[in-house]
Amino acid sequence: MASSVLYSNIGNPPTQIIKGEGHYLLTEDGLKLFDATSGAAVAALGHNNPEIKAAIVEQLETLDYCYLPFFTSAAAEKICSFLTESTGGEMSKVFIVSSGTEAVEASLKMARQYFVELGQLPRTKFIARKQSYHGNTLGSLATGFHKGRRAIYEPILAANVSHVSPCYAYRGCKSGESDEEYVNRLAKELEDEFQSQGPDTVCAFIAETVSGTTLGCVPPVPGYFKAMREVCDRHGALLILDEVMSGMGRTGTLHAWQQEGVVPDLQTIAKGLGAGFVPIGALMLNKRVVEVLSRGSKAFVHSQTYQGHPVACAAALAVQNIVARDGLLDNVKLQGELLGKLLQERLSGHKRVGDIRGRGLLWGIEFVKDKTTKEPFPAQEQIGQKIHLKGLEPKYSISLMPGPGIVDGKDGDIILIAPPYTVSSADVKHIVNTIAEVPSGRYLSIT
Ligand code: PLP
Repeated sequence: MASSVLYSNIGNPPTQIIKGEGHYLLTEDGLKLFDATSGAAVAALGHNNPEIKAAIVEQLETLDYCYLPFFTSAAAEKICSFLTESTGGEMSKVFIVSSGTEAVEASLKMARQYFVELGQLPRTKFIARKQSYHGNTLGSLATGFHKGRRAIYEPILAANVSHVSPCYAYRGCKSGESDEEYVNRLAKELEDEFQSQGPDTVCAFIAETVSGTTLGCVPPVPGYFKAMREVCDRHGALLILDEVMSGMGRTGTLHAWQQEGVVPDLQTIAKGLGAGFVPIGALMLNKRVVEVLSRGSKAFVHSQTYQGHPVACAAALAVQNIVARDGLLDNVKLQGELLGKLLQERLSGHKRVGDIRGRGLLWGIEFVKDKTTKEPFPAQEQIGQKIHLKGLEPKYSISLMPGPGIVDGKDGDIILIAPPYTVSSADVKHIVNTIAEVPSGRYLSIT
């Protein structure tokens, strides 16, 4: 019988997973796939965790749901307190939603409302970055830059978003340019964009702290976010850091900005928060933003039916308790270093591997047609997708995430490696050994 599920490719059903167990996904064909990307950098604890199941059941037995705008729950209170405390009080309020996209939408609305509260009504614009991904709803899509994802919706996307270059050393940094010179150039580009938009009309600059799918796990060069923060401060605009993918421990600290020497005004989180056991995301507000809201209308003009869902909050709290109790952030750093080192050793010599970069347990391999010119593969070659499909063959049995369109939001490919925080050194070696075998075939042969 034909399936009623709307897949990304209507005519081409993906493999059905019948069970998740630890670091593995079991397919209907009897394969045991190593989940080397934790889904989409989500399943931080792997699959089928008895403690999380118990926390979910316990929550269901006490309170399954209440409508947050009217009521609160112990679960919502606890996870929000945990989150604000994890920032040392820098962020002082949290708005819990059900996905990363919703968190980004809420951040854009909050930024606008902040300036309305301050009486700065002309502030209506956002500056985002090329090759960024912030979600697929209209507001978040307008801030992102993936051309394929935007193309048919372009006429209905908000026109109040402009885009500057991302911090992408592999392609952006000129030969002979130091990190400092590169950062200064990017800061000037942002400054120029503020000037061309009219500095008093900009609400916020939004960026992923460590870029995820659309650029391919690119950490910023040292000093980049400090320089961007300075430009925002100079013009009284907010800094929104989208940590939907890079946050909640994925890059080695609970919040990725903790490695950048800056604190955002608004921060979005999702994937690692609930680790895939429940759909959950959140917008976190800096205390400065909260003060303005508290002095003003006192109400965020935004609410959602599943906001602060008790079951999602209880599961997320259980996830975060395990991450802390088991010292998993230390493991992310340790195994992340090993993963980076082994990927470099095994793959940097590959003639189609242009760049390998990452932080913590978030790594990307960028494939190129020509290593010297860095010419990307054209989008229609679907190289990342081919590698993903190859990984699903029985002899590899690995799930790898393709990231298409990383060059100007159109051509070019990466595969993303983001295993659970619980991986061992043996798991990391297994991942790298397998990947070293996977890139084969017409375009990716080593010879
Ligand atoms: N922002 C970033 C940086 C992301 O990586 C993603 C998803 O990959 C999103 C936003 C959208 O999150 P979601 O798919 O949970 O809506």
